[in-house]
Amino acid sequence: MTNWFIETLHPWWNQGLRTEKFLYRGETEHQELVIFENAKFGRVLALDGVIQTTEGDEFIYHEMLTHVPLTAHGNAKHVLIIGGGDGGMAREVLKHPEVQHVTMVEIDRTVVDMSRVYLPSLNDGAFTDQRLEIIITNGANYIAETRHQFDVIIIDSTDPVGPGAVLFSEEFYSTCSRCLTDNGILVTQNGVPYLQSSLITDSWNRLRKSFIDVYFFVAPIPTYQGGFMAFGWACNHKNVRNAELCIIEDRFASSPFKTQYYTPSIHLGSFALPKFILNLLQ
Ligand code: SAM
Repeated sequence: MTNWFIETLHPWWNQGLRTEKFLYRGETEHQELVIFENAKFGRVLALDGVIQTTEGDEFIYHEMLTHVPLTAHGNAKHVLIIGGGDGGMAREVLKHPEVQHVTMVEIDRTVVDMSRVYLPSLNDGAFTDQRLEIIITNGANYIAETRHQFDVIIIDSTDPVGPGAVLFSEEFYSTCSRCLTDNGILVTQNGVPYLQSSLITDSWNRLRKSFIDVYFFVAPIPTYQGGFMAFGWACNHKNVRNAELCIIEDRFASSPFKTQYYTPSIHLGSFALPKFILNLLQ
């Protein structure tokens, strides 16, 4: 008998991944966690019925949410990741030699522990990197209480339901703005505009209350069904996002790592938004 994992994020559109083998299934302190194997995407992690990451296409998401802000910044030393329990975001951030310290604030210890066991390729050693500090708590509480300042803040959260909802609020964005250095950059997982149009409009309106330069960049990630995924960009310096291609190319050329999706042209091109998304930013 063939088993299927049916994602239930949308009331009018499901996606199904055939489950070759379940590796983990259980209720954590905060959410239902499932890890299974699929013939095409490899190992898949889902929370509360929503696909979070797969071995097959995670590179697109993690490369874009790290190399775009870090290459645009050019000298990020202190990076904050809120969420990111699977370790993929930390892995990509730590590839940047200029990064001295990464704080990863994840609400659910079980996601970290089970990702370490069943999805080792995602963290790929990041969890033992001396520069990484993992803090298990609610990211909204952490950002409200920390005195630290960060050059880049990456919100690698679930969607705005359950524990992730607070990470899309105006108050949260305002506290993030206060915790950024002068030309610091906030980037966010901001959903799939074609299916979650109110999510990008809400973020646009809320971010603009606390940041001078707010925009979005996009990338297609197969298992985040529905077309482009949008990533929020917020910065209190206008010129950081508009870096010349030659500057991005020089910085990328001098970086020691290889990528499978990110290139300097993709970096700049990802900010070219289709009209239906621009219309959501009125
Ligand atoms: N790539 C995924 C996406 O685009 O939806 C995100 C993956 S990552 C596993 C999402 C993480 O955010 C989960 O581990 C979840 O526990 C964490 N998370 C959700 N709400 C949080 C909060 N308030 N504070 C910290 N972490 C949170």
